[in-house]
Amino acid sequence: MINYTDRISLLMRDIVARVPTLGFIDLDEVLVFARWGRSDAEGAFATCHCLNLPPSEPGYYFWRDRTSGEVTRRSEWFVTKSPIVRVGNQAITYLISFALPRFCDQSLQRSRKAEFFPGADPWLAKLDTLVHELYHIDPAESGIRRIEREDGTYARHSHGPGFYEDVAAMVKHYLASGPDPELYAFLREDFSSLQARHGEIVATTFRTFPSYPQRYMEVLTDQPRVSGERADVRIEPLRAPTQPREYTERDLVVRRFRRRGARRAASRELAA
Ligand SMILES: [Zn+2]
Repeated sequence: MINYTDRISLLMRDIVARVPTLGFIDLDEVLVFARWGRSDAEGAFATCHCLNLPPSEPGYYFWRDRTSGEVTRRSEWFVTKSPIVRVGNQAITYLISFALPRFCDQSLQRSRKAEFFPGADPWLAKLDTLVHELYHIDPAESGIRRIEREDGTYARHSHGPGFYEDVAAMVKHYLASGPDPELYAFLREDFSSLQARHGEIVATTFRTFPSYPQRYMEVLTDQPRVSGERADVRIEPLRAPTQPREYTERDLVVRRFRRRGARRAASRELAA
């Protein structure tokens, strides 16, 4: 059996210890978890989710009458908030998710990253993704290094010029610093090869799988009137969030990942 998210976490600790640009990162505040993602489907290999963004400004949705232009209907006032995630006494400020088995099957071949690693082994694409996600963590600890979407994930276009080059340089720096090859050996193998070697591939997920902590809307207790609004404006109630607002280690569940899906393997306490 191989615990893929544990291996990634261990490797990340070595990376932040060896790459000065990432040295400010406190990995106790970063939780790595797995999501489901097929290898033959489009989608992200990994995502950095920020939990330390402040609540949004109060707002509401509205609908205008097509002819008069007047607002005839609007939602209640709400703010969007980040959920709270704690592991034991440790507050988590970032989540980094990996899509399995897709991430395991990532390769430099047919990848736009290939230009930064001429002649390199195909598995380096995975190390590049790991560093890429760490690079999203903001050194000012005030939220994010790059522009973030409302749902807490990073927009693809937020990678400014130089982002990919910086990441590739950090990958090369890490490898040149003489790390123990055992630490990243698991990245050399694709999903099938890992299965053949280890039997089961397990990973940390949230109990709410396939869902995970995401920004949610909270209705304001105080619902101010909108100045100049029609007296008969229809106010639509917002649906209460169905996802938890707080998560702890009790919400972490180890799942077994296979080509066709993920199943719960065993629950465990991750406080240690
Ligand atoms: Zn990114």
